[in-house]
Amino acid sequence: MIQWPKSNDAIGTVNRGNPAESGLCTLCRADCKGKCETWLSSLKGRKILYPRDYGIITAGSANTCHVGVSYNSLRIQGYLYGAQGLAKKLSNDPDDCVFPNVDVSGEFGVKKKTKFRLPIMSGALGSTFVAAKYWESFAVGAALVGIPIVVGENVVGVDKQAVIKKGKISKAPELDRRIDTFLRYYDGYGAIIVQMNVEDTRNGVAEYIINKYGDKVIMELKWGQGAKDIGGEIQVTTLEYAQFLKDRGYIVDPDPTKPEVKKAFKHGAIKSFARHSRLGYTNLSNLDLVHADFMKAVEGLRKLGYKRISLKTGSYGMEALAMSVKYATEAQLDLLTIDGSGGGTGMSPWNMMETWGVPSIHLHAKTHEYASILAAKGEKVVDMAFAGGLAREDHIFKALALGAPFTKLICMGRSLMIPGYLGSNIEGVLHPERKEKLSGHWDKLAPAVEELGSSADEIFASYYDVQKKVGAGEMKNIPLGAIAMCTLGDKLEAGLQQLMAGARKFALDEITRHEIFSANKETEEITKIPFITDVQDESAKKILSS
Ligand code: SF4
Repeated sequence: MIQWPKSNDAIGTVNRGNPAESGLCTLCRADCKGKCETWLSSLKGRKILYPRDYGIITAGSANTCHVGVSYNSLRIQGYLYGAQGLAKKLSNDPDDCVFPNVDVSGEFGVKKKTKFRLPIMSGALGSTFVAAKYWESFAVGAALVGIPIVVGENVVGVDKQAVIKKGKISKAPELDRRIDTFLRYYDGYGAIIVQMNVEDTRNGVAEYIINKYGDKVIMELKWGQGAKDIGGEIQVTTLEYAQFLKDRGYIVDPDPTKPEVKKAFKHGAIKSFARHSRLGYTNLSNLDLVHADFMKAVEGLRKLGYKRISLKTGSYGMEALAMSVKYATEAQLDLLTIDGSGGGTGMSPWNMMETWGVPSIHLHAKTHEYASILAAKGEKVVDMAFAGGLAREDHIFKALALGAPFTKLICMGRSLMIPGYLGSNIEGVLHPERKEKLSGHWDKLAPAVEELGSSADEIFASYYDVQKKVGAGEMKNIPLGAIAMCTLGDKLEAGLQQLMAGARKFALDEITRHEIFSANKETEEITKIPFITDVQDESAKKILSS
């Protein structure tokens, strides 16, 4: 097993727990006092791109990425000459070809395009409580950065205030809050996407949204996720809530209506209940039936009035992967998100997360192969987002390149949640009267925050960028978690621009698979991305023999 380094002396980061492939701890905590790369980037922004203590140091790469098969064992190409994809107003003059001029905005979709300022989107943040608690930060942050954010499954089903009768929702305050919070600062970039699973379909979520919001929302059909293959789960700690969820039609484990379970709960032997969702397509025994059912579901959404529809699939095996690519293409969906094994929020069975499904790089490499088969037949392949353990700007670049030209976005789950927690913790200290509402965990600033300052404008590198955008008078309404998200976005944007400039690609659609190489032979075999020194070797030898 590969051990990812816990600290990085060069940029001054330390993980609280054990790092995963993404660089985040396997257990990321909302109360964390720091300070991994994502945590610190949410405060310092682009400064984290560089080694610390400039002027009294030198720094050299630890080259920890050449073992095993993962995104960390891909390396990024840099070219000596040329510049592609410059905006019309720019020339090939070196004064124009500077990294801040790299355009990292783009769009996805078929008829009605969805624009974004940075090629990232959030993972699905659904009924899990951590999503509800910090939603204000996540949604305002996503709207200000200009990226899509996904409301995960079951949000209406677990909402005690929602009114659902016979598959018709007449009231869904939590879902309304999730959508309205994003739309408040939406300025034409990014999107609000709402997922729909078996229970959501039964509850009439699609009908409710189209009636209330029209096509402002992208509707997402959900096949699966990377973390688990048994649908969404949450944990509740009261008998009354467990019974409510059971009445709403969920599977609740252990069953809170059984007398022996009630007794065990009363005596403290059972302390919580797990709410589970149902598996999809259980009544369909072959591919043709699944295909027909899927097309019918898409058609149904179109009839309701949805102009943009997406599909999210998990790290199932190759057959399901091919189905997702083929069916989403055939149905002319706007986006297909392919989530590799590993990542998850709080309630996936741990050993399932560790052992089930296809790891991201294997899954994404095959996705490219399958998409290319369709493209070779002349099909217009669905736009895609890759997800699963991707957190840094180099991950964004590599995943876009690995899936090029089909990948438009990189979907980030846990990493985009960190600024939400961090900003809320800071705001709870600076404004104790808001601490409870914000789910802040701190009574005083963490040492790594104190080093930066004692007010929001001293702490967050992007504070004044946000102020410029929304106006000084509006800043009181912007959660610090959203400012932290903008600050993290600043680091990811600048870092991506630098990598793209080095590869001489000044626009996202110029990135190809030639921009990466495999750092070891096993990675080459899995990804079909050639080994480092094999790339351009022929051209090199031609130069020598000329
Ligand atoms: S923010 Fe999360 S991933 Fe980062 S150090 Fe803290 S616990 Fe670990």
